[in-house]
Amino acid sequence: MSLTVSEITQKVSASLTFKIFSICFASTHIPLLALVVYLVTGFRSEAMPVLGTVLAATLIGTGFCLASVWMLIKPLHEISVAVEAYRSTGAVKPIRSKRTDEVGVVTNGISMLITELDATLSQLRRQATTDVLTGLGNRRWLKEIGSMEITRAMRERTPVSVVVFDLDHFKSINDEFGHDVGDQVLMATGATIQHNLRPYDIAARIGGEEFCLVLPKTGTAAAIAIAERLRKELASRAIGVLPAGRVTASFGVYRGDPANESLKVMLTAADRKLYSAKNSGRNTVHWAVAKSITGESVAS
Ligand code: GH3
Ligand code: MG
Ligand code: MG
Repeated sequence: MSLTVSEITQKVSASLTFKIFSICFASTHIPLLALVVYLVTGFRSEAMPVLGTVLAATLIGTGFCLASVWMLIKPLHEISVAVEAYRSTGAVKPIRSKRTDEVGVVTNGISMLITELDATLSQLRRQATTDVLTGLGNRRWLKEIGSMEITRAMRERTPVSVVVFDLDHFKSINDEFGHDVGDQVLMATGATIQHNLRPYDIAARIGGEEFCLVLPKTGTAAAIAIAERLRKELASRAIGVLPAGRVTASFGVYRGDPANESLKVMLTAADRKLYSAKNSGRNTVHWAVAKSITGESVAS
């Protein structure tokens, strides 16, 4: 099987072994070459000038070898920096090498693997923390992000409120109109929440037809206003075959004390108010304030 010149060139440029061999060969032969040129061009053959020429050529050969090896492994150095950056900070730093030898293949391969791994991890993280039906966060996400918000509120000494709400008589909607209409209601509720919240508010679907909001930098009055706005909007919406007024929800609002209460404690307190809203006839907002917050210890 005979190879064309371009095929040979391709194979040679793709061979790391050949490149290393060429560098070693050239750098070790530079002194010999220099000596031959020195002698052939008629210079004096006394020991000192010959020794000087050989020494200079050896240094040049060593420099050439060092520079060539450095160039040869430069992409590996860059990719090792990129791997370390991704491991320690999660930063993706795409590296591209135009080389076709093993160093180029490994560099581009690892770079692509990091990019793909990051995309897959982001997708999995999104899937693990998102409720598919409504696009809101799920309970797991709420626990993680909500707790962070409470820690931040404690640090910055800002208020935080939580709202828990539950659709009223949702089972009867499923029973009368079917599960698909029920799902449609849940999706519309998710959209209503998203439409009404500020960018830094946290919203999650924490149960079948139960939702939760964590509202940073929000005191009692503002949290009640947000819950009321949501309640009214839900009650006034026609959703698919369901006329306005058919879908309502009951709300429990709790202004927490981030310095003394965890998210779990706040959710339990808001849940208690949700329960009282249900008992008082539904489609209403009940609220409470953490007792440790001075001046506000009233509950409706
Ligand atoms: P209440 O006013 O006391 O909250 O009454 P309810 O009927 O809303 O409450 P209940 O807990 O009796 O019923 C909740 C229903 O939610 C039962 C369940 O089948 C339904 N459900 C839970 N998850 C989903 C879902 O993803 N899609 C649909 N369509 N229904 C769901
Ligand atoms: Mg319900
Ligand atoms: Mg429920």
